Amino acid sequence: MTNNKYIVFGSPLIEEEEINEVVDSLKSGWIGTGPKVARFENLIKDYVGAKYAVALNSCTAGLNLSLISLGIGAGDEVITTPLTFCATANSIIHSGAKPVFVDIDEKSMNIDVSKIEQAITKKTKAIMPVHFAGRPCEMDAIRAIALKYDLKVIEDAAHALGAEYRGKKIGGISDITCFSFYVTKNIVTGEGGMITTNDEKVADKIKILSLHGMSRDAWHRYSDSGYKHYQVEYPGYKYNMMDLQAAIGIHQIAKIDRLDQRRQELWDFYNEELKGLPITLPTREMDGCKHALHLYTILVDKERAGLSRDEFMQEMHERGIGSGVHFIPVHMHKYYQEKLNYKKGDYPVAEYIGDRTVSIPLSAKITTEEAEKIVDTIKNIIEKK
Ligand SMILES: *Cc1c(COP(=O)(O)O)cnc(C)c1O
Repeated sequence: MTNNKYIVFGSPLIEEEEINEVVDSLKSGWIGTGPKVARFENLIKDYVGAKYAVALNSCTAGLNLSLISLGIGAGDEVITTPLTFCATANSIIHSGAKPVFVDIDEKSMNIDVSKIEQAITKKTKAIMPVHFAGRPCEMDAIRAIALKYDLKVIEDAAHALGAEYRGKKIGGISDITCFSFYVTKNIVTGEGGMITTNDEKVADKIKILSLHGMSRDAWHRYSDSGYKHYQVEYPGYKYNMMDLQAAIGIHQIAKIDRLDQRRQELWDFYNEELKGLPITLPTREMDGCKHALHLYTILVDKERAGLSRDEFMQEMHERGIGSGVHFIPVHMHKYYQEKLNYKKGDYPVAEYIGDRTVSIPLSAKITTEEAEKIVDTIKNIIEKK
C-alpha cells in the first residue's frame, strides 16, 4: 500500500497525554503561567543537570534575556556562527550589541574554534555557540577562550536538547543555555523556550525580566493566598510561558528517550539507504559526544548530483515530501548586508554549506513507510539525473 499523504517537514508527535493535559488546564481555568510551568521547569532542569531553569515563550526570548541579564548591550560585540537561524543574531541586535560572525568547520558545521580568537576585540563580551543540528560544539575550546578573555558563554541549544558533550548534557555547562520548544524542535510546546543556568542571580533576573520586570511576588498576585502588591524592578518584557504550553511540554520531556530512539532509527536507515548516492551525508558522533539528532542535513551539489539543492527540493515537493534549508547564512540576509556591511564571500565555508544543504524529515512522527518513500524518492531524483 502506498501512502500518498504529503509528508510535512518537522511535524511534531502529539499523543493523548498532551491533549488530555491541555484539556485539564482549560477546565481548571489556570491557563496562564502557573503550576504546570513550574513542573516543566523542574523536569527540564533535572533532565539537563542544571541548578535553575526559567520557562519562556521562546528560545529567542531566552537569548535576548540572557544577554540583558549578563549586562551585555550597546557598544558590545558577541561572537556567533553565521550558519544559524536568524534569531541567534537578531537577539544580539535586540540587546543593543553587534553580532560578529566566525566561519564554521565544514564537517561539524559548528563555529570553527580555531578562528574565534582572531575575531575577539576589546568590545567582545560573549560567545554564543550554536549546536548545529544537535551536534555539540567544541565546548572545552570555547570555555578556554572565554576564560582567557573573560567572556560569557551563552549556548543557543535550540537544536540540542538531549545532546551530550563529553558525558555532560548540554544545559549545565555554560553561563546560560537556551532551548526551544518550537513546533519543529526535538520536543515541542507549540511556541516555547527555556533557559538553564547554575547561577541563581541570573535565573532570578531572567525570571523577573520575563514578566514586565515585576518583583517576585507579582507571580502570585492572583492566587488564593490573596492579592499582593509588586514593585517594577526593571522595564521588563512579556516573555512568560503559559500553563497551556507547559501542559504539552511535561509529557514531551517524559518521552524524550523514545523520540530520540525513533530519530536514531531514521538516521541509521537514511545513512544505510543513501550512502551510495553522489551526495554528502551528515556527520554524527564526534569526540565521544552525543548528537541530539535534530536535523538530518544532506549536501546536494549540482556538479556531483546533477541538480542543484533548490531543484532537488522542488522535485521532492512535487513528489509529496517537504524539506527545509538550515540555513542560508545570516550574513547573506538583507538587513545584515545593508546595515552591518557583511557581504558574500565573508564566510566561505558557511556559504558553501548554505548553498547545498537540505534537511529531510527526521521527526519521530515519521513512519517506516514514510521513511521508505523518502529514500526511494531521493534515489529516484538523484539517479535519474
Ligand atoms: C528555532 C531556533 C531558534 C529560535 O527558537 P524559538 O523558540 O522559535 O524562538 C534559535 N536558534 C536556532 C538555531 C533555532 O533553530
